[in-house]
Amino acid sequence: MKYSKFFGKTQKEVPKDVLIRSHEYLVRGGFINQVAAGLYDFLPLGFLVLSKLDRIIKEELSKKGVQHLLMPFVHPASLWKETGRYDKIDVLLKFTSARGTDCVLAPTHEETVTDLARKYLKTYKDLPVILNQNQWKYRDEMRATGGLLRTREFLMQDAYSFDCNDVGLDENFKKMSEAYHAIFERIGLDVTVVKADSGTMGGSDSEEFMVLADAGEDKILICDKCDYGMNLEKAEGMSDGDLCTECGKGNFKIVNAIEAGHVFKLGTCYAESMKAYFVDEDGSSKPVIMGCYGIGISRLVASIAEVSNDENGLIWPKNVAPFQINLLSLGKESEVLEKAEELYGELVGEGFEVLYDDRDESAGKKFADSDLIGIPVRLIVSKRSLEAKSVELKYRSGGDAMMIAFDDLSGVLQKFFK
Ligand SMILES: [Zn+2]
Repeated sequence: MKYSKFFGKTQKEVPKDVLIRSHEYLVRGGFINQVAAGLYDFLPLGFLVLSKLDRIIKEELSKKGVQHLLMPFVHPASLWKETGRYDKIDVLLKFTSARGTDCVLAPTHEETVTDLARKYLKTYKDLPVILNQNQWKYRDEMRATGGLLRTREFLMQDAYSFDCNDVGLDENFKKMSEAYHAIFERIGLDVTVVKADSGTMGGSDSEEFMVLADAGEDKILICDKCDYGMNLEKAEGMSDGDLCTECGKGNFKIVNAIEAGHVFKLGTCYAESMKAYFVDEDGSSKPVIMGCYGIGISRLVASIAEVSNDENGLIWPKNVAPFQINLLSLGKESEVLEKAEELYGELVGEGFEVLYDDRDESAGKKFADSDLIGIPVRLIVSKRSLEAKSVELKYRSGGDAMMIAFDDLSGVLQKFFK
């Protein structure tokens, strides 16, 4: 893609309400545009990142046998009245259709997925199953600040497991927890897992995948020795400096964190209120046992941006970067422009994702924009590099610029992106 033709260029201005770094860089870099409080456009750069996250998440879940589907964003209010949540959830956006039907915009999908379960999961032979969707949701929040960290409309991965018994639920819970670890590893995001137990079932009842960041709205207690973590909200009576309850050696410290994912055992509450029963092997009728598993995909874009940046801009991990390579031509000499154009064609031909800054701009402007956008590899073709029959390569994550001979470039790039 040529940056001269690209929609959504960088901007110098920082919007007034921008309080955190990820929000500033995502707006200035041309990744997102605010439509209204808590509502954002994903511009082409931002949509590329979002799409990669979406795909990686689905791929890792598929490896665990999860099946993907899509449920509607608009729900009849009647489903929400069955579980009693119609009157309990204060962020539920309610409206009446032109035909007089009471509806809600979904903030989550337990009701619709349980409705599917009661129609399709009739006997123990239909179980276990895990269903997933990556779908937009809406929470009618009073306050929506912090860029993509806290929006009204957001993209979620939400999966739901269905089992005959607690052993099955434990297995699926473990499977999903493993998938989440693989996802966070692949997208280059360090997470701290915060567990909560109620002691009624085997293993923990929930795990939150937290990204440690000052901009996070959650507060968690972390042990400085064993990394054991607890959500402060759930850790009754605990405070900063207390002895770790897990290892008994380290001390807890309180840190801010962003909740990036959550796996949770629901049990039979939804199945009972919506009468999702199956016939077990012994002929008895039982409520199906459920678990739910969610990752905020649009929030991940901000979470990564929040922890992966420097004073000049974003530093995207290579698997989620909007492009792999940012090619810059410096100078107006025809041999430079011709070589840059030729190299662009070759790299694209080899399957690399390249953003080619072909604009007639100063070197300073091109460097600043390249740092702000944060593509992992920057390549420069200039008069100086041509004299050395080379291209200058610099990794956005750090290190000095290197001159790489044109013949060696493909090998270097393939090794880095493999
Ligand atoms: Zn500890």
